[in-house]
Amino acid sequence: MADETELQLQHKDKPIIAISSCLLGEPVRYDGQARPVSWIIDVLSQHCEFLPICPEMEAGFGVPRPPIRLQQKRGVLSVVLVGDPSEERTEKLEAACKSVLAGIQHADGLILKARSPSCGVKDTPVFDEAGAESASGAGLFTRICLAARPGFPVIDEQGLASEAGRVGFLIQVFRYCCRRRYNKGAAGLS
Ligand code: SF4
Repeated sequence: MADETELQLQHKDKPIIAISSCLLGEPVRYDGQARPVSWIIDVLSQHCEFLPICPEMEAGFGVPRPPIRLQQKRGVLSVVLVGDPSEERTEKLEAACKSVLAGIQHADGLILKARSPSCGVKDTPVFDEAGAESASGAGLFTRICLAARPGFPVIDEQGLASEAGRVGFLIQVFRYCCRRRYNKGAAGLS
């Protein structure tokens, strides 16, 4: 059986994955619901350290809250209330996204909730001024994160539904983790 020191080392050595809180079962969605994913909670949690995030809670929107969506107007992306698109939430959410990003600088990867206006990776609906779905893409947090950290391993829960998706993501995360530790070690030696 591993002694306490060994267990601490194992814990310390695990890669760190920032993850949308709702995927861990936290009731932080606009309607007070969660979207727990059992493979993440039961299996992946044993091999990684999780860093739960929720950009919309960070923005102080609370639970329950009016749902938001992405809107594109003359090439400019904004965040508006679904029930009243004249109500903008862009600035508040943008500031929260930057604050969340600053808190995950030491993470080795990111697992996000698909289709969310904040956390979506590639399939978040984008609406035009008339309220019609006109495109799809990443949510606001993901856009800010990827612009700041190109090459950072990012996936949504749908990408982890297949074994190939899980293996591919974990290889990226462990590689990123090794590189981060090597760079830290090299910096310490200089
Ligand atoms: S902002 Fe992200 S973490 Fe928070 S409830 Fe929405 S999808 Fe989940």
